[in-house]
Amino acid sequence: MSNQLSDRVNNMATSATLAMAAKARELKEAGKDIIGLSLGEPDFTIPEFVKEAAIKAIEDNYHSYTPVDGYAELKKAIITKFKRDNNLTYGPSQIVVSTGAKQSLANLAQVLLNEGDEVLLPAPYWVSYADISKVAGGVPVEIKSTIETDFKITPQALEAAITPKTKMIIYSSPCNPSGSVYSKKELRALADVLVKYPEIIVVSDEIYEHINFTGAHASMAQFDDMYDRTVTVNGVSKAFSMTGWRIGYMGGPEYIARACNKMQGQVTSGANCIAQRATITALEHPPSKIQYMVDAFKERRSLILGLLNEIPGFKTNEPEGAFYVFPDISYYFGKTLNGKTISNASDFALFLLEEANVATVTGEAFGSPNCIRISYAASENDIKEAMKRIKEALT
Ligand code: PMP
Ligand code: GLU
Repeated sequence: MSNQLSDRVNNMATSATLAMAAKARELKEAGKDIIGLSLGEPDFTIPEFVKEAAIKAIEDNYHSYTPVDGYAELKKAIITKFKRDNNLTYGPSQIVVSTGAKQSLANLAQVLLNEGDEVLLPAPYWVSYADISKVAGGVPVEIKSTIETDFKITPQALEAAITPKTKMIIYSSPCNPSGSVYSKKELRALADVLVKYPEIIVVSDEIYEHINFTGAHASMAQFDDMYDRTVTVNGVSKAFSMTGWRIGYMGGPEYIARACNKMQGQVTSGANCIAQRATITALEHPPSKIQYMVDAFKERRSLILGLLNEIPGFKTNEPEGAFYVFPDISYYFGKTLNGKTISNASDFALFLLEEANVATVTGEAFGSPNCIRISYAASENDIKEAMKRIKEALT
């Protein structure tokens, strides 16, 4: 039978992070001793207070459909969290709870983009932004940055990328994959450009908010002149190690929240009821309750940077947040290693998988073809062993 799939899905790239994780899992199941540093997923277990809340929700017989945009109590907890952690003021009609921040982002693309609308993506960008935009008819426009500027874009580069078709900009800070953190001053400089183009919607993905080693997190919506056209996306996957529970949320202009609610009402009917109840408890706890994870990530960052610096050909900077390093490995392009020619970052990531049994992700998927992404959300032993194997395979 011929391929009956839609152009929409045929033209869509498979998520490189999930594809690499699946490949690593497959090889592991086949008996290979793979160390997985491809998936951005905290290796901590869920805090006890969150588990207890979920168990209580089951015992209290939560079972039915929830309001499409989330339980009122959860929205209240999100509103309190936005005020407490970000000094952002939202009302219930400005909040939508979704099946992960990924769905919040997909909703936003679906409700805001028309065919041909341009979406600015400061590169490197999180792997799914481009395809989430494309599937909604948008055209991704990359704004390049390099390791020399800590992978941050300049206001000049932002302004140069804006055209009459620009509808949206999506970025994450702390950034997946680079770990870069935009300071308040740097965000203000970008905002000074954006205020000149009031039709552009800003999607500020703050899912790594707490995994920030600078001690300060800034939100675009904190600026009064940006508040009305900024959507703040967040979730509990990273902060509370709840990746599989699939709860994310957005706060933003009411008309956008209403549209996301409408979209979600036709697509998922809202997020899982037990996970929503557990998220209320998670968000009621202040960030100090998860500081132990942040401290551990900070130590692992030093560990991995130290070990990477001993390997020739890895150019690194010091990421200020999230749990990734994003080394420039273009030194290896054109070289032949163990009979394998390395032409690009994908060849290099494949080489590391096959020759060192270490799974990473090619930077091409993030719009930075000279780099690979290594997640250090792994045990110290795995990090040490992985770096040892990489060093041995390359020297
Ligand atoms: N944004 C970024 C930058 C991410 O790294 C991730 C990874 N999971 C997401 C959004 C999606 O998170 P969620 O698990 O809440 O869908
Ligand atoms: N956000 C994580 C990552 O970038 C999880 C994978 C995904 O959702 O694509 O690895």
